[in-house]
Parts: sequence; C-alpha cells; structure tokens
Amino acid sequence: MAISSLAQRALERDGLGPIRDTVLSGERISDADALRLFEATDLAAVGALANHVRERRHGDLAFYNRNVHLNPTNVCVASCKFCSFARKEGETASPGYTMSVDEAVEKVLSRRPLGITEVHMVAGLHPTLPWEYYTELLRRIRAAWPELTIKAFTAIEIHFWAEKYGKSYAQVLTELRDAGLDTMPGGGAEIFAPRVRRKICDDKATADQWIEIHRTAHRLGIKTNSTMLYGHIEQLEERVDHLRRLRELQDETRGFQVFIPLAFHPEHNMIGKAFPKPTGYDALRTLAVARLYLDNFDHVKAYWVSLGERLAQTALAFGVDDLDGTVLEERIYHMAGSTVPQALSEKTLHELIRAAGRVPAERDSHYRILKRFETAAA
Ligand code: SF4
Repeated sequence: MAISSLAQRALERDGLGPIRDTVLSGERISDADALRLFEATDLAAVGALANHVRERRHGDLAFYNRNVHLNPTNVCVASCKFCSFARKEGETASPGYTMSVDEAVEKVLSRRPLGITEVHMVAGLHPTLPWEYYTELLRRIRAAWPELTIKAFTAIEIHFWAEKYGKSYAQVLTELRDAGLDTMPGGGAEIFAPRVRRKICDDKATADQWIEIHRTAHRLGIKTNSTMLYGHIEQLEERVDHLRRLRELQDETRGFQVFIPLAFHPEHNMIGKAFPKPTGYDALRTLAVARLYLDNFDHVKAYWVSLGERLAQTALAFGVDDLDGTVLEERIYHMAGSTVPQALSEKTLHELIRAAGRVPAERDSHYRILKRFETAAA
C-alpha cells in the first residue's frame, strides 16, 4: 500500500511532491494538479500514486460482472464523427438493422443459462420507432427475468425521446423506470467542451443536457455511470474540464457509480484517418489521473473491449479496480475496428486479474460483491 521510495523520488524529480502530499493526506487535488499529472513524464510514478489510492479504497480486489450487451437498433439520425456503429434509415450500401421487440427480448432471454446478472442496452436515435417500443421492451424483459439488472439507454437517447415525444427528462426517466429500467450507462458524454462537441457531435444532446439528465436520474434514485471519449481532437485541458464537471455533479448528487474513460477507435468513422488510436501510455495516464482527481468516485473502470485485455489488466496497477465484465456480443467497438474477442469467459477474467496480483470479485450492477475468489480453486 505504501508508495515505493523510488516512485516518491520520481514524483519529486517531476515537481509533483506537493501533489503527492495532497493525495497521501487524503485531500482533494485541483484542476491545475490534474493537468500537471497529465503532463508528467514519469508514468510509473503517477501510476504508483493512483495505485495507492486504488488500494486504499479496494485493497487487492478487482471487480467484474457477468453481463451481456444488446443494441436493439443501429439506425440513428445523428452523425457523430467518431461513430462507426450508426446507419441512416434506408441506407443500402451498408444497411442498418432494427430488432423487433420479440427478437430483442428473445436475444436477452437466450443468455439466461449463462448466469448473466446484467443486460447493458443502448441504441441509435431511431427516427420512427414509437415510444412504446422502448417501454414494452423493458417491461417484457423485466416480466420474463425479474432478477436481471437492466442498465439501459444513454442520456443522448433520453434527450432525443424527450424532444421527440414531448416529455420532460423526468417523465421519460420515470416511465422507463416504471417499465423496468434499473440503472443507466454513461455513454454520450464524449468530451464536454463546446469546442470539441461542435466538431465531433454537434447534432445531439449538449454537455449541459447530458449533465442535467444524469442529475435528474440521480434525483429519481437511478444510479448512473459516466464516461469520457478521449484520444481524438481534445486538449488535455478539455479532459480536465470534463473530469471537473463530473466531480462537481458527483459532489451534488452522489449518483455516479463509476468513471470509464473510453479510448477512441479510428476505423470506419469520419475522423479515424486523422487520429491514430490512443497509445497505451495515454490510456494508463488517463486512468491514473482520473483515479487521483475523482476523489468522490468509488470506482474507475478499464473497459477491456476499448483497451484490449492486456492493457486493461495492466491498468489494475494504475488506479483501476474494475474490468467491466464478460460483455457478451459487443458491437459498437467491434464496428470501429476492435480486434479483441466479442466476449471473455469468467475463467479468462479470473486469469487476467490473478496474473496482475489481484483478487477477482464478481459484483452486481451496484458494485455489491456477489463472490470473492480468494484462491484459484474457489
Ligand atoms: S454515437 Fe450514438 S448518437 Fe452518435 S451517431 Fe453513433 S449511435 Fe448515433
């Protein structure tokens, strides 16, 4: 748990001694501190500091869950420049798809024998589906599988439906909750800075709207996740601004469960040619700085689909305590060129976690521990 003297000296050498002292005393670091950490040259030293915080909170535990992804449609009216998943209605060269409610429910229920505890469901902004499509989908899954946690729909979808169906955010969320929604994923946050949003996603919910929807969800008792899409046109200052807005909302509501930095993937989208995939160095420092700055977040996740299994595993020493889960049938990153498997078995997750010197802990969607696997035999 202690930081090695080597790392202590490296932090001193980088001029990060005062930030180290702030972190070790349990105080909050500033925006300027976060920027300094992003710019630090000694990644291992910053990682050691983040690891200290991670171990202070969670010891050696590394969390995962047994989950399945479902994307009922990829038809979307928006044109986010980084997106490889969406298709326009009527597109013929590379047509989109829309599942019927029956098909979507059937797909989720078919995973029941695998011991899944959560379905993660997000979709495109479909121009013609009726509101009842979404509520019926939730209602039918809930009725058929009452104990399954339904984590569904980003703030971007909530905003789109509020406008389209003439409802307030609270109405949309309440009707979804009454139909079966338990928690919300954190997608659609991208980078909050208006300069960036104007360039990469100017025709969907704004940062203020994203924040307001999560605030409303928290007020209604719906816990949510949070994300940041990094490694494209944003500046480091804009990453810090993004983290600041999340930390401020968390101070206000305590409704976020986890922060998940998402690495930009460059294939099959409009800006991919201009920007390579973020480096492993960038991924690890982003996770480490997030762990150090977001002092009111319990969990920081390395989404293995976004990073690859090995980098996600390494991140367990850079502030990360969660690897996401089995993630059966991921589509969004795979359509952007991800070459990682479409799912990981629980056994593989255990092996990755153990090889990193951590103890696997299966969690539910609210981070309650379902089972700790102290020994390999367990
Ligand atoms: S990121 Fe979401 S909102 Fe944007 S184009 Fe893709 S599916 Fe549509």
